Amino acid sequence: MIKKIKELEKISRLLEPTAHERKEARKKVITYSEGFLNDIEKTKAYNVTPDKGIALLESPISEKPINIDKAIKLIQKNVDFPGLNPASGGYLGYIPGGGIYYSALGDYLAAVFNRYAGVFYAGFGAVRMENMLIQWMAEVFGYSSPSSLKRAKVAGNLTSGGSIANLMAVVTARDSKKISSALIPKSVIYFTKQVHHSIEKAIRIAGLKECVIRHVPMDERYKMNAGELEKLIYKDKKDGLNPFLVIASAGTTDTGTIDPLEEIGKIAKKNNLWYHIDAAYGGFFILTDEGKQKLKGIELSDSLTADPHKGLFLPYGMGVILVKDAQKLRESHYYQAQYLQDALFESEEMSPADLSPELTKHFRGLRLWLPLKLMGVKPFRACLEEKLLLAKYFHSEIQKLGFEVSHEPELSVVTYRWIPKKGDANAFNNKLMKEVVADGRIFISSTLLDKKFTLRFACLSFRTHLKQVDLLLKILKEKVKMLSPS
Ligand SMILES: *Cc1c(COP(=O)(O)O)cnc(C)c1O
Repeated sequence: MIKKIKELEKISRLLEPTAHERKEARKKVITYSEGFLNDIEKTKAYNVTPDKGIALLESPISEKPINIDKAIKLIQKNVDFPGLNPASGGYLGYIPGGGIYYSALGDYLAAVFNRYAGVFYAGFGAVRMENMLIQWMAEVFGYSSPSSLKRAKVAGNLTSGGSIANLMAVVTARDSKKISSALIPKSVIYFTKQVHHSIEKAIRIAGLKECVIRHVPMDERYKMNAGELEKLIYKDKKDGLNPFLVIASAGTTDTGTIDPLEEIGKIAKKNNLWYHIDAAYGGFFILTDEGKQKLKGIELSDSLTADPHKGLFLPYGMGVILVKDAQKLRESHYYQAQYLQDALFESEEMSPADLSPELTKHFRGLRLWLPLKLMGVKPFRACLEEKLLLAKYFHSEIQKLGFEVSHEPELSVVTYRWIPKKGDANAFNNKLMKEVVADGRIFISSTLLDKKFTLRFACLSFRTHLKQVDLLLKILKEKVKMLSPS
């Protein structure tokens, strides 16, 4: 047996590369990633390749290892090259992603040390770090003040993204308002048709799809009409229904619109509704003065979703849910016996495992903490302010080119379209978008607003500056000219 164990040990030790092997692999990875970063201003935002990375499948997972050069080639050719390049400052479609470098180093350290971030007693520092970030965000969003003597009882969780945060919020609202299965068919949820689809998905996953869903009418700027919301609630109550949840958007994905957060908050409170705000796109603009004004009322919500992998420019894999009453988040997500419930506030730190569906999880805190510590909040704020101004700039310049625009951008999304002298405007804009995407230097996306095919300018990449916006304007001008019959 000892002989067999030793034989196996020899092979299993391959899982621990030697210092020399580590150095070699690291060198190659660093050379590759540095090359990528040094060229980032020159690389396209979108690459059309006919094979769509299919060659990856020609190298199946097997007993046979390949070397790091081959592995990097496979990644480069099949993963990093084809399709959308979210690391590019030319990414101006959907909601752009980020990828600040110090997050990568945070992830590197988190992976090497593999600290356990689920339970306080297992990973004191890792859990403290996550909770410290949650409390910082709670202060940023006005959920708690740093000066309050009593320790804030706001809870939250660093999730993989906004969708999971929204799901956790819907589940918490359901449990908090005691929506038992018998109550579901008469319980009512309110939101507008501009809500992100992850909300509707969350409602279904949470077992609430048989609730009554009210699409609250919007004004001409796609903002929830608070008066209409109040009327609907009043009527539903009169009809013996059970209104329990209203969901507002702080920056819709389509148009970057902010619902009237303060008014909705008052209505929710008056009618005893759970108030959730989806601020996955717009939330972190609160770091700027303009954003703070526009997001007034966000602090009235019971729960809130934000997305550091959007508004704080992190690489993908980080959303956040905040719940003002910590106990509510915990009641929906704890796993210990109920008699331990009171230990929550006696233990020094809440454990993420008690506040989310996850037990073992990625130590996400480090990828947010490291960049915030190494750079401070100031450049984040400046970058967000720059994005707000770039959107205003684009909104004004695109009109000079003759495009039709909707209202002044509320945050950093601008919707616009070209009205051709002859022919169908929808078809024209569809073609125009495809031409821009095929060019690839800038990536844009579109939406349908009142059945009108509309182009979107969504500015949130930390690498988007005046240069990229001017390039898009130039490309649009050229393509319109090219597509217009002379
Ligand atoms: C992106 C987004 C989501 C979904 O978040 P993910 O991080 O992609 O899961 C939800 N709501 C809004 C408003 C968004 O912009």
